[in-house]
Amino acid sequence: MINALPHIIQMSPYALADMTAPAGMDLISLSQNESLRPPSPHAIKAAAEGLADGAVYPDPDWTRLRVALGEIHGIGSGEILCGNGSLDLIGCLARAFSGPEKSILASRHAYPFFATAALIANARFDTSPEKNCTVCVDGLLHAVQPDTAIVFLANPGNPTGTRLSKAEIERLRAGLRADILLVIDEAYGEFTDHLGERCWEMVGMQNCIVLRTFSKAYAMAGYRVGWGLFPERVANEMRKVMNPNNVTHVAQLAAVAAVSDQTYMKETCQMTAALREQTSQTLTQAGFDVIPSVTNFLLIRFEMPENARDADTALRAKGVFLRRQQGAGLPNALRMTIGPEPDTIKATEYLCRWMKGAIL
Ligand SMILES: *Cc1c(COP(=O)(O)O)cnc(C)c1O
Repeated sequence: MINALPHIIQMSPYALADMTAPAGMDLISLSQNESLRPPSPHAIKAAAEGLADGAVYPDPDWTRLRVALGEIHGIGSGEILCGNGSLDLIGCLARAFSGPEKSILASRHAYPFFATAALIANARFDTSPEKNCTVCVDGLLHAVQPDTAIVFLANPGNPTGTRLSKAEIERLRAGLRADILLVIDEAYGEFTDHLGERCWEMVGMQNCIVLRTFSKAYAMAGYRVGWGLFPERVANEMRKVMNPNNVTHVAQLAAVAAVSDQTYMKETCQMTAALREQTSQTLTQAGFDVIPSVTNFLLIRFEMPENARDADTALRAKGVFLRRQQGAGLPNALRMTIGPEPDTIKATEYLCRWMKGAIL
């Protein structure tokens, strides 16, 4: 018999969204925080032009993409690494910097993949309480253990949609031991860049990492491109555990073109914010408890887990898939992506009808 390592055998597979629509029905998926519109036309064109070069391995140093990102963000110190989505980088961080004698810390309603990455690395995963679905810096600091190696902070958070101010993140960093790596996962960072609170220079402290992705604001989840700014020493260790050819040639070309089309990406963020606020207002007026969000999704809290399950089941029967959040410690909540406008409006209407006790 072939057996995996005991800590792997004990794991359950990562719970991706269930996407099986009822028979004969079109699926409306608002379950994976995908964009409300396609990638920039420039990105699509660049990808198509790259197909013919598929016989050759991709650039292992993502040179053009790193230059484009560095210029757009005015990133001076630190080194950019790209990943097969930011999940890839999160997994590599856990493998390189934690393990059986170490632990990883995140807040109670943090992005569930942080826990998965810890399990794969066979590190203990600790959590700290949040206040009203917002990360609590004092809670994290109190939860630090002698063996804590990494603190993961998604900012803005998923599935909560809330964010910490930069001052709070700096207070967190200042309160952590210098040998603890603080990973600031800004998967939704582009949606809040207009606030002017960027964290890049914190990487200069040598124990902070900032991660971003093309999956959300750039509408390129299917291309699998994530990236981050790393202190040079951390980047050197990361390189040892990373797949050396992790981002396809086509995806690199598309990402470069997408970075060069900031107008399109910013417009996507504005369209998303407008539809999000409209949706949030409609749901709140209908009596839902909606957490104010700065991202491309809303977290809707119900009184009891059974209510969240009932609403989810009722919408699923109509082919509309939101996402339950037991994995993030929120069994009484549903997360709804601000997706294509007609889909989002339809889902909102169904929710409002469900609230009135109507049969959908
Ligand atoms: C979506 C998401 C990711 C994963 O992004 P990929 O780049 O698609 O792997 C990482 N962190 C958070 C908080 C996310 O919401």
